Amino acid sequence: MAQLTLDDVTKIFHDDDEGEIVAVDEVSVDIEDGEFLCVVGPSGCGKSTTLRMIAGLEDISSGEIRLGGEIINDQPPAQRDVAMVFQSYALYPHMTVRENMAFGLEQSTDMSDEQIAQQVEEATDLLGIDDLIDRKPGELSGGQQQRVALGRAIVRDPEVFLMDEPLANLDAKLRAEMRTELQHLQERLGVTTVYVTHDQTEAMTMSDRIAILNDGKLQQAATPLECYHEPNNMFVAGFIGEPSMNFFDVDRRGSTLVADDFEYDLSEETARELGDRTDLTLGIRPEDIELVEGGSGAHDYAGVVDVVEPRGSENTVHMTFDASDSANFVATVDGMRDVEWGEHVTVRFPEEAIHVFDSATGEAVR
Ligand code: ATP
Repeated sequence: MAQLTLDDVTKIFHDDDEGEIVAVDEVSVDIEDGEFLCVVGPSGCGKSTTLRMIAGLEDISSGEIRLGGEIINDQPPAQRDVAMVFQSYALYPHMTVRENMAFGLEQSTDMSDEQIAQQVEEATDLLGIDDLIDRKPGELSGGQQQRVALGRAIVRDPEVFLMDEPLANLDAKLRAEMRTELQHLQERLGVTTVYVTHDQTEAMTMSDRIAILNDGKLQQAATPLECYHEPNNMFVAGFIGEPSMNFFDVDRRGSTLVADDFEYDLSEETARELGDRTDLTLGIRPEDIELVEGGSGAHDYAGVVDVVEPRGSENTVHMTFDASDSANFVATVDGMRDVEWGEHVTVRFPEEAIHVFDSATGEAVR
């Protein structure tokens, strides 16, 4: 079993100028055997440090990392049954593809030359790079180099793959292709994978579960759809989804949420869910906002179109409320609907789509 467990894992760096930097703060997560977990979050949130601690490239300040039930905190990297793939590929420039892939095995195992050759052949087959085997990294494209870097991890047949932004240096089209390939590969090999990325699309499309970090702290670890539909807090709600969720500060007056530019009447059921909380934030995703013709429902508001960003099948439309020149919000509108700058429209915020957060803590209330 290659279940990987992080239990209250913390990393504190000591910096001469800044003092203590808590890079990873009591992170606990269980990664199941064969699971694909993406770790996401903004720059500096502790993604790479977390991965490096699992790899053994960084000491753990406190907490425990277990692989298959065994504590590996103090195991040197070479003894851990993990293989890491970096953004930079980290290939040896003077070695051929074959030598690059065989090198780790020659150093760390007592496999025969024949066994190693066979492992390398299987991996190059799997990755479709058999015809490149005698080339050196300088003679390969970025995508091909990344395949070799993956191959080098695969030949080691590890319990866990650790990947740190492995597709970051590729162009958008190749990234999308490699994403699908990596997914197939992981499904076929069934190797537990921890994959760091700052790209939420990558995380949403590839992973079984996403772990979202902010400021070293784990915000949520759940399936992509759970993170999208049921975010734990405002950070997750704002981080997952593109364009980001709209947030409005609201005061509670009975069963009405009062924002600067609009009032939102809640059903009895929703009002009950909010308990007696008063200091709230209302959230709605751009794709949940509807454009309605001549609507006058309880949750319909007059808006003016500010900016239209065409995206093909849909448009991202920036608007303000009619009665205001300050509160902006963003709606995603069907690309077939002609929307023009300055146009007066009616938008609907359907009640089933609204999120409500406690403004003080950011925690989701609904
Ligand atoms: P990015 O997406 O930019 O790569 P990240 O989420 O991977 O960021 P980390 O590289 O893990 O973030 O860094 C987390 C925090 O720890 C940052 O504040 C960073 O400045 C700090 N940090 C990382 N390595 C060291 C180090 N060797 N010494 C001191 N501080 C460090």
